[in-house]
Amino acid sequence: MEQAFRFADEFGPLKVIFVYEPSADLKAVLVVDNIARGPSIGGVRMAPDVSSEECFRLARAMTLKNSAADLPHGGGKMVVFGDPAMPKAKKEQLIRTLANALRNEDTYIFGPDMGTDEQCMAWVRDEIGRSVGLPRAVGGIPLDEIGATGWGLSHAVDVALPYCDFDLKGARMVVQGFGAVGKHAARYLAARGAILVGVSDSRGAVHNPGGIDIDELIELKDSGAPVTACKDARKLEREAVIDIECDIWIPAARPDVINDENVHRLRTKLVVQGANIPFTDGAEKTLHEKGVLCVPDFIANAGGVICAAMEYQGASEAAAFQTIEEKVRRNTKEVLEAARNKAIPPRAAAVELAVERVRRAMSVRRYSLFSSAPGFI
Ligand code: NAD
Repeated sequence: MEQAFRFADEFGPLKVIFVYEPSADLKAVLVVDNIARGPSIGGVRMAPDVSSEECFRLARAMTLKNSAADLPHGGGKMVVFGDPAMPKAKKEQLIRTLANALRNEDTYIFGPDMGTDEQCMAWVRDEIGRSVGLPRAVGGIPLDEIGATGWGLSHAVDVALPYCDFDLKGARMVVQGFGAVGKHAARYLAARGAILVGVSDSRGAVHNPGGIDIDELIELKDSGAPVTACKDARKLEREAVIDIECDIWIPAARPDVINDENVHRLRTKLVVQGANIPFTDGAEKTLHEKGVLCVPDFIANAGGVICAAMEYQGASEAAAFQTIEEKVRRNTKEVLEAARNKAIPPRAAAVELAVERVRRAMSVRRYSLFSSAPGFI
């Protein structure tokens, strides 16, 4: 029991729900962190090696992200233990069972994350009507297909450039993880002159100082091949992506990939975090001391959830793109200015901004963490 409260503080978590249904081979954990701003939105992550701890931390990251982006939503997250590449019929049964198990848990709105996609969200909507990140066929804005998060990241990079003094044209970028976030971030940044010199996925990494053709690589990945199938680049071990010298390093894979053991290997001027909590606190501190600018995850990668929240309100795709651009640019600027003026790391400035917004919301609710007001959803 004490273990469960190890992460508890003034902001949450409000609820932790373990879901177990052996007939569907379903084991999942839902953490609803804080709903003072509104019902929580956060992704469903499916992987064989997810953990409850990861879920607690990611749920808090969503509270901060949603409040920093000034959305009428709190933060939550779900992890599902399983191989995301399982047969489709099995996955459908699993996701439909999960949705039904949480039918009445209206403090949480399902969203996509690693291992789940628009199709999964359509199954959830079909069962219980409460999901975002839907396919177009049911009126959604497919945020991974259009690259909502990558679009926001490209704007975070643009705003950060004057703080580290180099141009985007010709800037060398390295992307760790070439999925929904990584490939679109690379695509949008390349369209503005940056050059992709290194990239990895779960199966390996490649390096070409002269530049890697992003459209070709996307085609390769879409056909199911790993990035190492890319012909015009040198193959490397997966973790060697950390050593590639560049101007912009974008983590877009898993948590804690950069830690005290490997942070000294990074040779970059700017880190813009696409993945959630990709660096340990210690690693981020080391980078800050070395003078490497690091735009934190929940400021830089808010594009996906902004898009999801707008979809929930019935907004158009064009409006979502515009809002992502405005919000990510404004927040990145505000955070980097505060960090510079107060001489604190960008993450400390970002947490101050987000926490202040959560506190303000909590101060006007009947209970500090939740509300039972009718019509809340
Ligand atoms: P995805 O499943 O589409 O892609 C993940 C990519 O990372 C894949 O290419 C995979 O092969 C690769 N990968 C996995 N482990 C790796 C490792 N150890 N080293 C290198 N590559 C590895 O997932 P995604 O939607 O792109 O999400 C990536 C990250 O961004 C996650 O942390 C997710 O929580 C975060 N995020 C996603 C969104 C979104 O809109 N999809 C929004 C905000 C944050």
